[in-house]
Amino acid sequence: MVRLNDIVEEILRYNPNADIPMVEKAYIFSAKAHKGQIRLSGEPYLVHPLEVAYTLTRMNLDVPSVVSGLLHDTIEDSYVDKKEIEDYFGKEIAELVDGVTKISKIQLMTSEDSRVENYRKMILAMSKDIRVILVKLADRFHNMKTLNFLSPVKQKEIARETLDIYAPLAHRLGIEWLKGELEDESFKYLKPDEFNVIKEKIAQKKKEREVYINEVKEIIKNRFAQFELDADISGRAKRLYSIYKKMVLEGVNIDDIYDITAFRIMVGTVKECYEALGYVHAFFRPIPGKFSDHIALPKANMYQSLHTKVMGPYGEKIEIQIRTHEMHKIAEEGIAAHWKYKEGKVFDAKEDRIFAWLRRVIEWQHELKDNREFMEIFKIDLFPDEVYVFTPKGDVRELPKGATPVDFAYAIHSQLGNKCVGAKVNGKLVPLRYMLKSGDTVDIQTNPAHKPSKDWLGFVATSKAKTKIRQWIRTEQRERSIELGKTLIEKELAKHDISFASMLKSGGILNIAKEHSFETEDDLFAGVGYGLYTVLQVLSKVIPEVEKPSKIKSIISTIKGARDTSVKIEGVDGLVVKLAKCCNPIPGDRIIGFITRGRGLTVHVNECPNVHTFDEQRKINVSWELKKDLTYPVKLKILGDDRKGLLSEISTIMSSAKINILSAKAMSNPDKSAAGMYEIEITHMSQLQKLIKSIQKIKGIRSVERIRGTV
Ligand code: MN
Repeated sequence: MVRLNDIVEEILRYNPNADIPMVEKAYIFSAKAHKGQIRLSGEPYLVHPLEVAYTLTRMNLDVPSVVSGLLHDTIEDSYVDKKEIEDYFGKEIAELVDGVTKISKIQLMTSEDSRVENYRKMILAMSKDIRVILVKLADRFHNMKTLNFLSPVKQKEIARETLDIYAPLAHRLGIEWLKGELEDESFKYLKPDEFNVIKEKIAQKKKEREVYINEVKEIIKNRFAQFELDADISGRAKRLYSIYKKMVLEGVNIDDIYDITAFRIMVGTVKECYEALGYVHAFFRPIPGKFSDHIALPKANMYQSLHTKVMGPYGEKIEIQIRTHEMHKIAEEGIAAHWKYKEGKVFDAKEDRIFAWLRRVIEWQHELKDNREFMEIFKIDLFPDEVYVFTPKGDVRELPKGATPVDFAYAIHSQLGNKCVGAKVNGKLVPLRYMLKSGDTVDIQTNPAHKPSKDWLGFVATSKAKTKIRQWIRTEQRERSIELGKTLIEKELAKHDISFASMLKSGGILNIAKEHSFETEDDLFAGVGYGLYTVLQVLSKVIPEVEKPSKIKSIISTIKGARDTSVKIEGVDGLVVKLAKCCNPIPGDRIIGFITRGRGLTVHVNECPNVHTFDEQRKINVSWELKKDLTYPVKLKILGDDRKGLLSEISTIMSSAKINILSAKAMSNPDKSAAGMYEIEITHMSQLQKLIKSIQKIKGIRSVERIRGTV
C-alpha cells in the first residue's frame, strides 16, 4: 500500500524544491473527506487517492497535479465543494479538481450521439488544463487495477472505454508505460481467454527466453567491447496486448519465443546510437525495409529511437531499439519530460508537437459542427502511426500511415489539394491512391481547371483532406443544382411569356419557395436542380392550366459524376452534368436530358432504349458545348483475321491519331478470327468516325463496332 511518505519521497526525487506542506495538507484534507468510506475491494477509500497521487509522481508531475490526485474524488464522493477546496488550496488546484470531477461524470460509452457530446466535453476540459487529463489517466489506471471487484458487465464497459480512449490518449501524450499498462489491463477483461493463453505461454517459456536473451546480449556486448562502446543492453517479452495484436494482424505464433521478444540498446549520445546500429548490422544481417530512423524523424508524441530488425544466431528475426538514456526518459514520461518546475510559473511548451496536436483537436472542437465528422477526425488523430515524406524542396512532412498524395497535397495547401491531378513519387508517376512510404519525395501535379472527386473520400487518410473534400463537394453540388434549377424555372416561365427577372424582383419566386417550405430562392432552385420537385410542380400555381403532378416522395441524395462534361441547356452553357452509363454519349451524338430523381440532369443519346422509360415532364432539350480538352470514353469491338501483327497495327493507328487507349483485350476465336475490345478516349464523333474508317482499311479487318453501355 502506498503511504504519504512514498509520495513525498518521489516528488523530492525530481523536484527538490517542491511545496511538501501543501501535499501533507491535501493528504489530511482527503483523509477527512473520505473518512469511513470503503471501496468495493474492502479497503479504506483513502487508498485510491493515494495510489492516484503516487502514479502522478511516477509521471514526474508538479505539486498541484499530485495534490489534485489526492483530492480528485472529494467533490464527487463527499460533502466538500469547489469553494472549500479553493479556500484551502487556491484557485489553480480548485480548478483542476473541478475539471477532473467533471470528466469523471462524463459517460463515454453511452449511445453514439451522447458519446460524441461527451468526447467534446472531455476535450474542452483538457483544453483548459492538460493536467486534468493526466490526473484522470492516473485515476483510470488505479481503477483498472481494481476492476475485478465490479460486475462483469461494468468491467467490460470500463475496459472498452479504456482501450478506445484512455490508452490512445496516454500514447498521444507520449506516456508509453501507462499506455502499455492500460492496454494490458483492458485486454484482460475484454478477451479473458486470449489473455490467459498468452500470459501462460509467456510464463511457461520464461526460462527458455531468458537463456536466449542472455545469449544475444552476450554477443552484442562482446562486439561492442571490441569497439569500446559502452551500452545497456536488455531483452524482454513484449506486452501481452501487443503480442495479441501481432497474432491477429500478422499471424505470429506465440510458441515461437523469438517473435515475442524484443531487445533494447541504450547508449550515451546520438552519435553512439548510429555507431551501435552500424556494429549490430555488421554482425547480424539486417532485414531489408525494417529499419526506421525515429531519431532524425521523431514521432508526433516526441518518441525517438532507431528501430531495426535483424537475423539472429538461429536465423530468427530480432527486433532491436537503439536510443540514448535521455530518449528513453522521454519515451517513458512523454509530456511530463518537458515539464518545467519554476515557482509560480505556468507550464509553457508552445513549441512542443504534443501541444500542436492538442491545439488542433481543440480547434476542430470549435470548427466541426457535425458530431460524426468530429468523431471520425478525433479518432484518426488518436492513432498517429506516421510516415515522413519530403516536398520537392526537401522539407519533411509528417502524415499518418496510409496517407496518399492527395493527403500530402491537402496538408500543404487546400488549393493544392483541390487542383491535384496526379503525383510523382521519387520521380515516377503514381496513382493518386498510392500509399506513401517514409522517405518518399512527393511532387504534386496540378491543373487549375481540376476539381476534387468524391471518390477520393474512399482512400484519403487524413482528417484535413476529408474535411476539405467534403466541404468542396457540398458547395459544388449546391451551386450546380442552383444553376440547373434556376435555368429550368426560367425556361418554363419563358414558355408562358412570364418574366423570370420581374418575378424574382417582385418576390413571386420567394413566395413559391416558401410554399414548398424552402427558406430562400436559392434553396428552391437547388431543390428543383436536385430533382426534389419538378419545375411544373413548383410552378403549378403560376401556370394553372397544367395539371398538378404528384409530389416526388423520394428524398434526394446527390448529383454524382464529377467528370467534366459540357452540355448546353438552351443558351446556358458550361453545365456539368452526368452522361448516362447505359449509352455513353459523346459529342456528335444526338442527345436529350432528363432530370432524374436524386441525380440531377442525366444525358442520354436519343436512341437509348431507356429514354422511353422516363417521364416526359422531366425531359430537357440539351446540346453539346464543345470544349477542346475534354475526352469521353468509347468502347470499340474490332473483329478481324487472326494474324500476327494485327493488334499492333490497330494500336499504331490509334496512337498516331493521338487517341489514348484506356484498356485493350484480345481473344482468338476457333474460326481463325480475332476479337479485340478497346476502350479509348474520344473528343468528338467526327474523330471516332475517322478512326473507324482507318481501322477498316487494315488488311483482314472484318468489322468495327461501337459498343454502348457496360459490356
Ligand atoms: Mn477516482
